[in-house]
Amino acid sequence: MLVLKFGGTSVANADAMLQIASILKEKNYPGNILVVVSAMSKVTDMLISCFEKAATHDETYQEIVQQLEAKHMEAIEQLVPYSHQIELKGRVKMLLRELEDLSKGIFLLDELSDSTKARFMAFGELLSSAVVSVALQHQGLTNRLIDSRDYIVTDGNFLNAKVDLKKSYAKVKAELANEKLVIAPGFIARSQEGKTTVLGRGGSDYSASIYAAALQADLLEIWSDVDGMYTTDPRKAKLAYSIEELSYEEAMELAYFGAKVLYPPTIAPLVAAKIPLCLKNTFNPSHKGTLISNNPKPSQNVIKGVSCIDNIALLTLSGSGMVGVPGIAMRMFKAVATCNINIYFITQSSSEQSITVGLSMADEKAASLALSQEFDADIDQDVLNPISLESPVSIVAIVGNGMIKHPGIAGTMFSILGNNNINIRAIAQGATERNISLVVKAEDAATAVNLLHDSFFKPEAVKPAAALA
Ligand code: ADP
Ligand code: ASP
Ligand code: MG
Repeated sequence: MLVLKFGGTSVANADAMLQIASILKEKNYPGNILVVVSAMSKVTDMLISCFEKAATHDETYQEIVQQLEAKHMEAIEQLVPYSHQIELKGRVKMLLRELEDLSKGIFLLDELSDSTKARFMAFGELLSSAVVSVALQHQGLTNRLIDSRDYIVTDGNFLNAKVDLKKSYAKVKAELANEKLVIAPGFIARSQEGKTTVLGRGGSDYSASIYAAALQADLLEIWSDVDGMYTTDPRKAKLAYSIEELSYEEAMELAYFGAKVLYPPTIAPLVAAKIPLCLKNTFNPSHKGTLISNNPKPSQNVIKGVSCIDNIALLTLSGSGMVGVPGIAMRMFKAVATCNINIYFITQSSSEQSITVGLSMADEKAASLALSQEFDADIDQDVLNPISLESPVSIVAIVGNGMIKHPGIAGTMFSILGNNNINIRAIAQGATERNISLVVKAEDAATAVNLLHDSFFKPEAVKPAAALA
């Protein structure tokens, strides 16, 4: 069994979809295959902008529906013989009418819940999978199109739904194990109550890993528009290059700290089921890409990659009232977690006089309020200082299993940045010693990434002394 996932750019137009057909044919794989597809490139953003416009009484939401129709119809016209187009065009039109009705409802009612947003966002994958399925039929690849909402069961956190893996695996195994070629929309799922949910932006990767784990696939391949996981974001650093092999943990850390090519939750189901993951380029299929597994071949590089997350806010709780008082950190994390806010970064000063957390700027107001309320009494009595907020900042992380055995990497990192006048606002090292992350001002992030990348990866450049030993 093989599971393949094709991202937005891999289904962006008719040519890309034909490329998928050619990749599948080239494989000539004797076993069963399940293909997961994302929405066509930019479509999820267009859907979001559609409901935002409708909710603010901006009638131009109708233009977006028209653009969506044109985009999908154009692909159909190029992929499907004229005499066979009517059925698929009818299906696409039906979905778009549904979308239009939903938009009209928001426009009139002034109501936009997360549940409705998820229903909107699901249209992208429903549309693309319908087109890809028929396109593949016409390339001689007989397949069955499914609706992932019938298989992937989640909670009711509509936009970032938590998957019930056990229930989902049971459904997938029971119904899809013997299908020769299945086409499934990524990203979308259904809550226990039967409502449409989505798995978070970039979530089609996760859908694919759920199918792979459920079906005990031999391999999961995630096809995108780059030659695998690079040493850093290829858009930010000219010298970035594709990494041959990574461990699951390294891939997870790089993804978590911003390597967008892989959605971080994707790894967990694969680890448990011991399924290797290969990141490949749809537009350069002969490139080996990046293999992510339990036992990657040893590498000379201590550091595997440099990642960066922008638009981060730092919130600091400080004051003499923290020294030696147990439970402060717990109260702090609990207050933030209760608002469903993800913390990317935690650091505590050794004198215990302050704890700093890094979280998305989008959550800074809610987090700041939650912390101020939790520590209201202590702040009032001047035992703690008012919560301090600093944004925008960026988290830059270096990742590599090899750091465990090589002291001095952090020192090298600090001197590279210090020598270039980049001020480090905060530092954290994972207990696993697989990553060191530090916070810099937003305007310094790109330079910091490039400096660190080029120092750690250019053969002739500075290498950490310990790493060379
Ligand atoms: P897809 O639509 O196929 O899921 P994404 O846009 O989600 O693709 O992810 C691919 C993009 O991730 C690449 O085009 C690249 O610009 C970006 N990216 C960021 N960091 C990295 C990295 N370390 N390695 C590879 N790509 C990265
Ligand atoms: N279409 C969704 C998004 O843009 C999911 C995905 O592409 O993985 O976030
Ligand atoms: Mg993606």
